[in-house]
Amino acid sequence: MQVIRSVNEMQATSIGLRAEGKLIGFVPTMGYLHDGHLSLVEVAKAKADVSVVSIFVNPTQFGVGEDLERYPRDLERDLKLCEDCSVDIVFVPSTEEMYPAGHSTQVEETAVATDLCGVSRPTHFRGVITICVKLFNLCRPDFVVFGQKDAQQAVVIRRMAEDLNFPVEIVVAPTVRDEDGLAMSTRNACLDPRQREDALLLSRSLFAGKSLVDDKGIRNVDRIKSEVTGILTAGRCVRLNYVEVVNRENMETEAEIEPGRSMIVVAAWIDEVRLIDNVML
Ligand code: AMP
Repeated sequence: MQVIRSVNEMQATSIGLRAEGKLIGFVPTMGYLHDGHLSLVEVAKAKADVSVVSIFVNPTQFGVGEDLERYPRDLERDLKLCEDCSVDIVFVPSTEEMYPAGHSTQVEETAVATDLCGVSRPTHFRGVITICVKLFNLCRPDFVVFGQKDAQQAVVIRRMAEDLNFPVEIVVAPTVRDEDGLAMSTRNACLDPRQREDALLLSRSLFAGKSLVDDKGIRNVDRIKSEVTGILTAGRCVRLNYVEVVNRENMETEAEIEPGRSMIVVAAWIDEVRLIDNVML
């Protein structure tokens, strides 16, 4: 496994690989890897000649007062996990490599990114898109694998790649959950046992909403939102951010549920830890 820390070396390597006709599969992450991340790596490896994983806690996607300093990190463990998964290249740039003094360009998507998570985190997707544009230019992937857990992020990135004519395929892989249903997330490491109990209400409420649609045939959006909201807000540590039923292709709110197209999305703070989750209907 090759560990690359410099942007110049990463770009020269990927340009060289493409000149050899190699298919590059890329998985961008912020590290502290869990089985959700590793499932994306497996998808990349299955399709690609060369798998590239980036590990970079991107400061520009954290807002003022968010958890950049507290964000869990363990590079040694991450590198071991990548090695065990037979990743070909791990790209681990420093903040100075990615954002040298004088860096003054940001890339913004102005439709999908402004709603849902974009309301309470108004600069978040600008940071995500900017880092993805940079990483795509450095790693030159044929395809990039994102997780369904961050559904809005995947839609925003797909839109950006289309709008900016990136010759890249965006692949979205299913959400990996703990046995009790909690969607795996790096931020779960910040939860104490009491908070984790309440965090479980995200998936529990989503599955209850899904069951009303799938098993009872309910198509009324307000009925589903009120079911999900009721279960989720019963938790003492829970502060609801949003519950919405959206079109999975464009994240626009649905007037009526359409199975196969609609998705329930939720975001909530469990005390100071903000979590998101979603389920397809
Ligand atoms: P992060 O390190 O949180 O920025 O996530 C890196 C990538 O892993 C993103 O594409 C996420 O959507 C994806 N991811 C995070 N959690 C999960 C999960 N539980 N299942 C599948 N993919 C995930």
